[in-house]
Amino acid sequence: MDKTPNYKADLVGVFGHPVAENPTIVMQEAAFQQMNLNWRYLTIEVRQGNLADAMQGLRVFNMRGINLTIPHKVAVLPYLDEISSAAKLMGAVNTVINKNNRLLGENTDGKGFLRSLVEEAGVNPSGKRVVMLGAGGAARAIAVELALAGASEITVLNRSTGRGQNLVALLNTKTAIRADFVLWENDYSVPADCDVLVNATSIGLSPDINVKPRIVYSSLLDSMVVCDVIPNPPNTLFLNETQQRGVRTLDGLGMLVYQGAIGFKLWTGLEAPINVMRAALEEALGV
Ligand code: NDP
Repeated sequence: MDKTPNYKADLVGVFGHPVAENPTIVMQEAAFQQMNLNWRYLTIEVRQGNLADAMQGLRVFNMRGINLTIPHKVAVLPYLDEISSAAKLMGAVNTVINKNNRLLGENTDGKGFLRSLVEEAGVNPSGKRVVMLGAGGAARAIAVELALAGASEITVLNRSTGRGQNLVALLNTKTAIRADFVLWENDYSVPADCDVLVNATSIGLSPDINVKPRIVYSSLLDSMVVCDVIPNPPNTLFLNETQQRGVRTLDGLGMLVYQGAIGFKLWTGLEAPINVMRAALEEALGV
């Protein structure tokens, strides 16, 4: 047996600002321990304007990869050697893999949502009609992945026109889904043929937990699956109100766990211990 000591851990982490409250470290470190890997996940504050130096640091420290969060998901694109086709469509990267000093960019947000939808809610997106509340980064990632997975129609609601119309134009020109935009001004009545309703806004995110998206809640039907992307708290007012009407729901914790699990596999090459990651996150978030 080789007795040569190895004190060098493999490093991954997240660059963001603010970043102190990002709980990803908890689930990734739990996964490393479970899988007996000498890897560390670092939560690193990188201010806007310092990303170029941080990406150079990633290379110099020979880190195995990095997650990007606010405000770096779009700004990171010029520092990468390769970008996945889905991430290119979204114009945003949340996971970088360092393969022999070649930096590959991927976006696992939408993929995480999709896996949560398939594996936790048992819904195959193919042929489904989707209503999406919001047109920000999360909405964009989810909408692109739903389109690539064969969803047939999507209605995007947004309170401001620019981001909503941009997303719809992207979907209609670059994917096979039929997309339309609705300016979100009043309570929205969800069409009866909607299969999947997604709240991809930040309405209900901690600490503003006593607000919910403006929809006509009586228009929700038990043929629908209603999803929230907000991981904290996972039991948002939106999902509570929906459950009271006997309609199936999917919380944002699953999306967070699966996007991390996909990143874990991209970095380590190993299947992630999903249940361990979810339990660690639930404990950290006090669920
Ligand atoms: P963005 O800032 O890019 O987008 C926010 C979206 O919410 C926009 O569409 C914005 O509309 C809309 N919005 C915000 N406040 C209101 C309001 N009061 N009324 C109507 N619309 C509103 O944020 P992200 O897309 O990055 O994040 C959105 C949510 O997704 C957050 O809660 C975040 O926690 C969650 N998320 C969850 C992940 C997970 O793994 N579970 C991963 C990534 C994000 P407008 O364009 O008009 O400003």
